[in-house]
Amino acid sequence: MDVHQLIIIGSGPAGYTAAIYAARAHLAPVLFEGVEPGGQLMTTTEVENFPGFPKGIQGPELMRLFKDQAVRFGTDVKAEEVLGVDVSRRPFVVRTEKGEYQAKAVVIASGASANYLGLPSEEKYKGRGVSACATCDGFFFRGKKVAVVGGGDSAMEEATFLTRFATSVTVLVRSDKLRASPIMEDRAKTNPKINFLFNTGVKEVMGNEKQVTGLRLISTKTNEESDLAVDGMFLAIGHSPNTKIFEGKLEMEKGYLTVKPGSTWTNVEGVFAAGDVADWKYRQAVTAAGTGCAAALDAQRWLEAMEHKK
Ligand code: NDP
Repeated sequence: MDVHQLIIIGSGPAGYTAAIYAARAHLAPVLFEGVEPGGQLMTTTEVENFPGFPKGIQGPELMRLFKDQAVRFGTDVKAEEVLGVDVSRRPFVVRTEKGEYQAKAVVIASGASANYLGLPSEEKYKGRGVSACATCDGFFFRGKKVAVVGGGDSAMEEATFLTRFATSVTVLVRSDKLRASPIMEDRAKTNPKINFLFNTGVKEVMGNEKQVTGLRLISTKTNEESDLAVDGMFLAIGHSPNTKIFEGKLEMEKGYLTVKPGSTWTNVEGVFAAGDVADWKYRQAVTAAGTGCAAALDAQRWLEAMEHKK
């Protein structure tokens, strides 16, 4: 079996930036795209805060450019999902649905995924009115009423985007205040199609055999219940890191991979982490790209040091 210099797990800004740097350092990286090729930006519309794009850029377009740049320098991009890793032996082993791969070093950039409320009724209507991606599913709600759960920037962005299709968007906020940045909050608040319900949680998603017809709401202050007639519910309540396959193998804190301060080193030498999988704090495309670069440099230097030792 071939032993690769470097395997990169994940295809968001962190993974592709690591690939660009590693490929240019002649490490011939193999990158696994995973179940969400391109990562979270694929479900975003306009990205206005990525430096170098003063007019903004669509998330999927930005990711296409990342990928093109990584491929241009020789990254081997594989449309496979990593199902398991063995970092207890060397070379490291990465297992996908198609087989096993070996590498001297690994960069983990598996990112984070959308959170759901965890209601059985929510699970039942996933894809039938319940969604965590307005960009993907908003189109299906033309002329309909929808709710967005959450009070951060994602909720404001999703709500604003959904007004392109829906006749009304009700934002359900569990506390009495938003957590969004002022510019996003203003944009949502001045949109006549958007209204807000504060101190409001979702108790149940209601529907018929085919689709969502409404939500049973609960006041987080008085426990009083009420019904809201909507055709869709969009979740915008944050994300969780994709670290399940690393449980018991790498050190984590609250589900995020732990890295040595000021580096991308995990607790296993030769395994590096970049982007949202190790970042609970900033979670931005540009910071993910930055740590992706750092991970490639850390991996390159570590591989060189190992070579030197021999
Ligand atoms: P945030 O963590 O900022 O906000 C999550 C929101 O969901 C909060 O209002 C939180 O409420 C609420 N929430 C969490 N869990 C639940 C639950 N179980 N039930 C109901 N409500 C819940 O996450 P975002 O995804 O909005 O943003 C993440 C990061 O990405 C931020 O740094 C943000 O600035 C950034 N971002 C930037 C954008 C841009 O600039 N274009 C667009 C989107 C995101 P509570 O406050 O009560 O905890």
